[in-house]
Parts: sequence; structure tokens; C-alpha cells
Amino acid sequence: DIVRRHGGLSTRLLQILREVQDHLTWLPSEALEQVAEELGLSPDKVRGVAKFYSFLYTDPRGSYDILFSDNITDRMLGNRELLHYLCERFGIGIGETRADGVVSVGTTSCTGMCDQGPAALVNGYTLTRLDRARLDRIVELVNGRIPLEQWPREFFEVTSNIRRADILLGRHFADGAAVRAVLRRGPEAMLDELVKSGLRGQGGAGYKSAAKWMACRNAPGEVKYVVCNADEGEPGTFKDRVLMQDFADLVFEGMTLCGRVIGARQGFVYLRGEYRYLLKALRETLQRRRETGLLGEAILGDPSFNFDIDIHLGAGAYVCGEESALIESLEGKHGVPRIRPPFPTTHGYLNRPTVVNNVETFAAAAKIAVEGGEWFASRGTAESKGTKLLSLSGDCERPGIYEYPFGVTVQRVLEDCGARDAQGIQMAGPAGHTVSAKQFGRRICFEDLATGGSFMVFDRSRDILDGIRNFTQFFVHESCGFCTPCRVGTSLMRDLVTKVHTGHGTRQDLEEMRKLGRIMQVACHCGLGQTAPNPVLDSLDEFPEAYERRLRSTAYEPAFDLNAALEEARQLTGRRDPGAYLNERDLLLGAM
Ligand code: SF4
Repeated sequence: DIVRRHGGLSTRLLQILREVQDHLTWLPSEALEQVAEELGLSPDKVRGVAKFYSFLYTDPRGSYDILFSDNITDRMLGNRELLHYLCERFGIGIGETRADGVVSVGTTSCTGMCDQGPAALVNGYTLTRLDRARLDRIVELVNGRIPLEQWPREFFEVTSNIRRADILLGRHFADGAAVRAVLRRGPEAMLDELVKSGLRGQGGAGYKSAAKWMACRNAPGEVKYVVCNADEGEPGTFKDRVLMQDFADLVFEGMTLCGRVIGARQGFVYLRGEYRYLLKALRETLQRRRETGLLGEAILGDPSFNFDIDIHLGAGAYVCGEESALIESLEGKHGVPRIRPPFPTTHGYLNRPTVVNNVETFAAAAKIAVEGGEWFASRGTAESKGTKLLSLSGDCERPGIYEYPFGVTVQRVLEDCGARDAQGIQMAGPAGHTVSAKQFGRRICFEDLATGGSFMVFDRSRDILDGIRNFTQFFVHESCGFCTPCRVGTSLMRDLVTKVHTGHGTRQDLEEMRKLGRIMQVACHCGLGQTAPNPVLDSLDEFPEAYERRLRSTAYEPAFDLNAALEEARQLTGRRDPGAYLNERDLLLGAM
């Protein structure tokens, strides 16, 4: 039934597997085989896709599956203590399912709720502002088998926390204004406005949007696509969540006018799996737009203007934020980045010309359609026009969304959000820049500190290495495993940082980190692996004391503690003879 509802299309595989899992709580082999048969795919392919995404389970899980967000900002808010408390109340360990199959508790990387954590997901739906009292109530609800629809609404409340608005968030936008504007101006004039605006991709890469749209428009082929990347998975980023929650019409208009400019009839929103709570409202918004003639066939009565939008829900794979991996996922495959060129503008979704832009970029394009390119370009700096949404979290009094003209200094942002005692910030997520206080005068723009929007504050009470270790673990978890420098490099880097963090590191380990980081930057296949060493390399320069004070005085100590491993064997076998020790010193220590 589910497969039929999705038209028997293999491109819908991820969505089909999500729905099957909703029914069964996990994906047993028989279910995967049945899906494979009905889609005409090999069972191995379907099983491989199911195993790739962390929100798809090929082992049994509880009917209530609770995943704590384990980003560094959740840790700063005390999530580990709450996680242990909940596991204790249910009588299970982290990552375990209770014997009666009712509940399982685990962790996930980041749920995009850094401004209202500690946060978690229950069966994919967001829980915010967790504390012991809330967890006690959750235990009662789970043990009483109360359906999620009957849980207190405030447990799921997600507030937008818009603290500073500028041209994007602050100016009124009349529904349909951008679609009418592109009809009035025509595609060429719209492109001219985009050129004048200087708009660049707001996901962080900063590619000129007009150039991307033009390349796709000029690419040969009748069938073209528009894809909105709403898969912001960078820990510390949640601005797209707010845009999709409060400004969905603006985003959909940006996509629609892009469709008009490049000649596409179909658009997709790839929505981050963690934002599942938005899905129903977004589908209702799309339906309303169809009913009011702003989407679908003959938009605003023009028979040549046909464009519709479908929403595709991700399933917990950070690498799918990379545009070619996102396209693979949209096609129902593993989200492994493609070799480029060719680029999506000529060979994108189903190998057709495709524009992939970030949520914020489409929202800005809609405003430009209405207000004009020069209006937009009057804000910002020479190379970074317009404004940027920042997601503020960590040690500050007012976490939330701040919109600034490009060029604002780090210092100004810290003052506005009430970060009184910052020792450093992590900009643009773990893959971005680790910035110490001596650099707070730097500007946020493509000429200086480029960012997709994440801005995490660490005050002087924090140990910077706690954050760096969390980031290295994040990359181990999120590496898709396709290429060796990333698959092995992220694990080696995590082990080296852990070694130093736990007081076993030497100066040689710091050198190893630098060498390994440089190799990863050049040898990894995609941006994830290439940027994974950034927090380590940056912090070695910006916070050398965080490493130095933990170093042992010895010149070298292996990351693997052979004597500790042998001790386990000695205990198992009951041996204490000299042959069971590495050397005389260990023997003497062991005898004490
Ligand atoms: Fe996958 Fe990492 Fe290689 Fe990218 S760099 S393809 S994420 S293994």
C-alpha cells in the first residue's frame, strides 16, 4: 500500500522506508525484501540504503524511541546528566531497548534546537527544554503507553527566538508578491535583478546565485529541477528551522520564481529529518498555495507558468547537506557525494539541470524579486551583499536568531546576545572557524569569516578541548565511509584528541594532528572530510594552552595502552608471572 501510494517510484525509497518504519517501529528483513520486490530493486540495495541513514533501523527499537541531542551546546546545558537519569528510570543503558520492547533511549548528533535545549527526539518528533520534572512525566507517559498525540503540547513547543530582524525577517511580505513580480518582470529581467543584488549562496559556500541560475537556464534539456536544501545539519545551526516555521511562503516563492527563471516545473524541499515536526504545516501551506493559484498548473492564470513543490524528509545523514549527496538521497539512494564536475546545474536530479540553493537563499531571492537588486545590495560589504541570519547558542543570555548586514563584527554580535565572558566562538559549525578573543574584531562576511549561520559561544569557564573532542566524534559519526582519508582520518583524529584530552598526549601527537589534518584537507573526496580537521587545526593555533597544559612530559606514548589491555587478560587468566608483563617496571607496579 505504501509503495503504491508513492507511485511505485524507486526515487521515493527513503520516504517509503520511513513510512514502513512508522508502522513497524523498525525495518525487518522481510519488510525490506517486500519493498525491494515491489520497487523492482535488489534486496541488497534496499538494505544498504536502510543501513546508511541513522534514523532508519534494521534492528528492533522500542515503540517509544527517544534520542537525546548530543551537540556540545546540549552538553553545556547538562544533557548527559538527564540522559543517564532517564536511562536509570527506565532501567536500561544508553543505546538499549527495554526487554518489553516499549522504549529505547540513545543519542543523536544535533537536533537543531541549540537555543532551547537540552533537546531530544521521540519517534522523530522534537522535545525541547528537558529537565528532570519533564523526564519524570515522560516516564509515566511511556509506561502508560500514552500515544504521542496525547502528550502535553508544551513538551513539543519550538519557539522561533528571533532576536534581531533586518530586511529578510523584519519587512512585511505579501503572499504572492514575488510570484507576481517575476511574472511582471519576466525571467531575464529577474536574472538582471539577481545579478545587481550580488546574492550569494547562504549555506556557506557563497557561490553567486545569479551565475548558478543562469548556468541552469542555459543548460540543454527540457526538464529541469529546483531543489531547496533545508538539511541544515551543522551543529549549532537552526536558522533554516525558523525560516521554514515562520517564513515558509517566502521560501516557496523563492523556489517558484527560480522555477520560472530556469524553466523548471518541479521543485523539491529536502527537509532535515530532525525537523519532521514541521512537515504537516508545510504540506498544508503548499496546499493553500495551490488553492490560491500560487502553485501548480497555470500559476496566477498564466498557462505557461506551471510549477509545484514536493517535500522529501531526510533521515539523519549530515553528509546529505552536500548538494550532490542530497541529490543522490532525493533519488532514493545512499547520500554519497558525487564526483564533480559535472555540476548539478547541468547534471543534477535524475541527471537533469538542477538549481540547488539553501533555504535562506531562496527567501532572499523572493525579497529581491519584490524590492529589486539595488535595494538588497545597499546592505553588506563589497563582496557580501545583503544580510546574514546567525543562529546564536552556547554561553549567552539571549540565544536565538539574529539578522545582520554582512560585515558585522564578532564583538558586536557577542554584545547583542549578552555573551559577557566569551573566551572563544565556533563559527559555521564544527567544520568552520574556531575564533579566540584576540580575533573578536573580525567581520562576518565572505571576505573574512564566512559562515552558514552557526555561532556557538564558549565562556571562560569552559574547556575548549571538550568542544573539540565532541566535534571530532561528530565527524566520525557523520563520515559516509566512501573514501579512506575521511573514514580513517576522522577516527584517527578523534583518537589523538581523546588521547590529549585524557592527559596521555605528547608534543609528537600535536604534530601528528597537524600532519593528519593537512592530509585530510587535500585527500578527502568531499567537503565534509576536507573540513573535518578544521576545529583541531584552528584550536591548535588559537588555543595552544588548552593542549599544552595536558601534555605529558614524555616524548611519545602510543594511543593504544598495551599494558592496560594486558591487565584485562591477566585478570581473566589469573596470571601474575613475569611473562604476563611487558617489562620489569609494569611487573613491579602490578605487584603493588
Ligand atoms: Fe564520505 Fe567523508 Fe569521503 Fe565525503 S570525505 S565522501 S563524507 S568519506
